[in-house]
Amino acid sequence: MKETTVLVVEDEAIVAHDLQQTLEYLGYEVLTIVASGEEAIQEAAQLQPDLALMDIVLQTDMDGIETAAQIRQRFDIPVIFVTAFADDEVLERAKITEPFGYIVKPFDEKELHVNIQMALYKHEMEKKLKESEESFRTLAENANDGILIGMDKEGAHAFANQRAAEIMGYSVAELLETSIKDLVHPEHVDKMQQRYRQRLEGKTLPKQYETLIVRKDGQSVPIELTASKTVWQGQPANIVIFRDITQRVQAEQERDSLIAELGAKNTELENFTRTVSHDLKSPLVTIQGFLNLLMQNVADGNTEQAESSAAYIFEAVEKMRQLLDELLKLSRIGHVVNPPEQVSMDDLAREAVDTLMGQIEERGARVAIGPTLQDNKALVYGDRVRLREVWENLLGNAVKYMGAQPDPRVELGLRRDGDETVFYVRDNGIGIDPRFHDKIFGLFDKLDPTTEGVGVGLAIVKRIIEVHGGRVWAESEGEGQGSVFCFTMNIEGKA
Ligand code: ADP
Repeated sequence: MKETTVLVVEDEAIVAHDLQQTLEYLGYEVLTIVASGEEAIQEAAQLQPDLALMDIVLQTDMDGIETAAQIRQRFDIPVIFVTAFADDEVLERAKITEPFGYIVKPFDEKELHVNIQMALYKHEMEKKLKESEESFRTLAENANDGILIGMDKEGAHAFANQRAAEIMGYSVAELLETSIKDLVHPEHVDKMQQRYRQRLEGKTLPKQYETLIVRKDGQSVPIELTASKTVWQGQPANIVIFRDITQRVQAEQERDSLIAELGAKNTELENFTRTVSHDLKSPLVTIQGFLNLLMQNVADGNTEQAESSAAYIFEAVEKMRQLLDELLKLSRIGHVVNPPEQVSMDDLAREAVDTLMGQIEERGARVAIGPTLQDNKALVYGDRVRLREVWENLLGNAVKYMGAQPDPRVELGLRRDGDETVFYVRDNGIGIDPRFHDKIFGLFDKLDPTTEGVGVGLAIVKRIIEVHGGRVWAESEGEGQGSVFCFTMNIEGKA
């Protein structure tokens, strides 16, 4: 093993000689003996000894204490003071240079040996500590996660890296003035402080969890953190490594709502398919039945019956065509969207009345546009073509389901329900039993199968209104009491 090398700084030749002998006897290698501070610094620089033994009182400009300070600072060489002086003032001054040992003359071999060994050990430990602190800092500074070290029960921060400062919106220096309560969201702070304390007491806690912090600008940020107990500058501390998970949380929320939306769409689609296949099958069954009959009629030569069977077939084919047309219409809503614009519901209601004038006159109905709809033109923001379809469907139904009413009347209007604007079409026709108020909006749902139409109109109305963020419903006291069909709208950019 390499011998420990020593630089001796002593201006009394006899003492120096004595010291050299003792050191060599103890197995150390004395590199050189110098008598002044200046020489000591020169030799230290050149020889790089493992240790310096330094007399405090030197007969030159620089005394031992100053020399020791320089040797320590410039070359990181541990220094042990060897002196006859031990008064308080000298000791105080010597302390500032953080000496590795202090031996008062006269001393014995053993004392010298123990002092040297302790100084070397202490120096080695200090070096290791410095190195490990250095590597921690390099690691922390380059880390892509925020790192904070919190001391004591309050979690006052003793260390913060650059990334922590970025996430929190403070500077590193500002972070060192904060503690947990300044950073963690008020709703989470008690829990976090409790965990801090428990961890310092040595309790085992979940290492990783999510919480919310509040940035300097007041913005809340979700973070994921890993915390563990550590020792920082000799004190127990909590080290917290964390990352901003805003994007992940947002992505999770979006994913959840997409899954929910998809689930709802799937259910809707399943119901739709069931209804469609059921309703499309019935004209097919009719066609098949009458085709068999037609073959029979042809075989029998019964032309009259054959014509009647063919007529049924035509009727079923026509019904099927109508069903498919309506289905196609329904499936387009929400896909083929006309760009939303500001439209006047008053205008749309009037256009609907014009379009349906033939049916209205045929039934002898009186149709009125309510004063509220006229007065403020009722401006909304939406798909003009689709919204006119809504009025046409509701008005068409109102005229169609008049029953035997001798004085058929219909009103298209607007009313205020609290904060909500409700558009309506009121008639004094056959009315609807309250049990069926929801059912009639379903696909192919008709209350009286003998009436014309395939039962798609209200399903279309419902789709259009929902695409516009609104609701639609029917109000009626019951059969013979007339009906009111109401809807709301809620679309962004509402005029
Ligand atoms: P369709 O009119 O083609 O049957 P809709 O979906 O428009 O289909 O209407 C569904 C059912 O709701 C109708 O068959 C009818 O029974 C009932 N209904 C719709 N509007 C009215 C109304 N104004 N008064 C009474 N019943 C109505």
